[in-house]
Amino acid sequence: MLLYNSATHKKEEFRTHTPGHVEMYTCGPTVYHFAHIGNLRSYIMEDVLEKFLRYTGYDVNRVMNITDVGHLASDADTGEDKMLKGAKREHKTVMEIAQFYTDAFFEDCRKLNIRRPDTVQPATGCIDEYIKIVTGLLDKGYAYVAGGNVYFDSSKLERYYIFNDHDEEDLAVGVREGVEEDTNKRNKNDFVLWFTKSKFEDQALKWDSPWGVGYPGWHIECSGISLKYNGEYLDLHCGGIDNAFPHHTNEIAQSESYLGHPWCSQWFHVHHLNTSSGKMSKSKGEFLTVSLLEEKGYDPLAYRFFCLQSHYRKGLVFTWENLDNAAQAYGKLIARVAALNPQDGAVDEAVLAEYREKFDRQVGNDLNTSMGITALYDALKAKTNDATKLAILDNFDQVLSLSLLEKGAAKRKEQENAKQNTASQGGYTVTGEGDPAIDALVLERGQAKNAKNFARADAIREELKGKGIEVTDVPGGAIWKRV
Ligand code: AMP
Ligand code: ZN
Repeated sequence: MLLYNSATHKKEEFRTHTPGHVEMYTCGPTVYHFAHIGNLRSYIMEDVLEKFLRYTGYDVNRVMNITDVGHLASDADTGEDKMLKGAKREHKTVMEIAQFYTDAFFEDCRKLNIRRPDTVQPATGCIDEYIKIVTGLLDKGYAYVAGGNVYFDSSKLERYYIFNDHDEEDLAVGVREGVEEDTNKRNKNDFVLWFTKSKFEDQALKWDSPWGVGYPGWHIECSGISLKYNGEYLDLHCGGIDNAFPHHTNEIAQSESYLGHPWCSQWFHVHHLNTSSGKMSKSKGEFLTVSLLEEKGYDPLAYRFFCLQSHYRKGLVFTWENLDNAAQAYGKLIARVAALNPQDGAVDEAVLAEYREKFDRQVGNDLNTSMGITALYDALKAKTNDATKLAILDNFDQVLSLSLLEKGAAKRKEQENAKQNTASQGGYTVTGEGDPAIDALVLERGQAKNAKNFARADAIREELKGKGIEVTDVPGGAIWKRV
């Protein structure tokens, strides 16, 4: 597979430390609120990447953290603790908030066909790991204690910026408007590894440490959790593009300084879902969730389809019109799958292999999911029988996860039921729940009405009512249902 690596700024052949095996790490959600559909764009694209790697034969170990402590309100590693903010807002404890929004996150993932990573680790469960790393960094001279906190000393690095060559002034930590600069820092890119003092309100969760009672910084959790579950050599690290700086930059700084060797070889960053007023973000207050899409009548998988239509390295603009277009296209695609007859012939393995090879090559070119979607339409047009078309679609859906066959089969059944549940006579059609005796009565009532025998029509309606059947007249016939 060819994959763009943010650390080298190049599309490269995907390689792993151990042949055939991928150690993959994903920055998980900060669970102080619902995930918005922008966050979920990142998780959808990472899910497709994981599934594509499995599809091409890799065995993948995927690890994800849950940020339930330490993520500060500003990405520049300053500001109020996000979890504490959420707890205050909802008058709950931090752990109640964390549990509630973790469950909500995985429920959203389930609706979007996002596979749960092999290991999901809340940050609060690995405190010993962070203490071990911070101790190691202090021993090696990469960290210092100041004002009660432990800081990483960025001046000890030969190269700090990995993902960009930005002017340091532009990215300076702690110099944003309205944010007080931390005077304990020796260098502006230094960051907190362990807090015992915060100028903000007291942290609810604290642990004992060699530096006093306190809590970990945000960045150390991902290094600690990854080193514990992925080992010392990470093949692939994922996250949204906003995580590249300072979060991932700091993860690299501390992990490599602690280990004494290169740590992660490939970095995959998903670009943002934007609204017309800019990046979708939780801190802006109003944001879109999967539940809101459902309330408005959208199938969450129509949103997945929408995301797959565009490339992960391009910003994606969300508008209701764009989503409507995707939902319509997804609905039509399902209808075309439903129209295929699974009994039509045996699967032609040679055709399947030919389509599979093309899909592999196209999607394998830097995770080109829009080519993956195009491949679905190509399969529908293939010069082969329906059974083979269904087998191709099923194969591609191992990666795309649009529930094509499942939804197609459900729609086919719905259409067959509707056909079976229909009785017709003299241009008058009765649609019901599949009971010929009731169909006959409703047909007779229709004929009585046509013959202007309203007394008989009313009598039949009463008789049906007595059986718990409700009849609704529609143009050209009637629909009945049990009430
Ligand atoms: P958070 O819950 O804020 O820690 O974010 C969870 C994930 O969503 C991270 O990988 C972020 O980089 C990513 N993310 C945040 N905002 C967006 C957005 N508007 N579009 C795509 N990904 C995002
Ligand atoms: Zn992370």
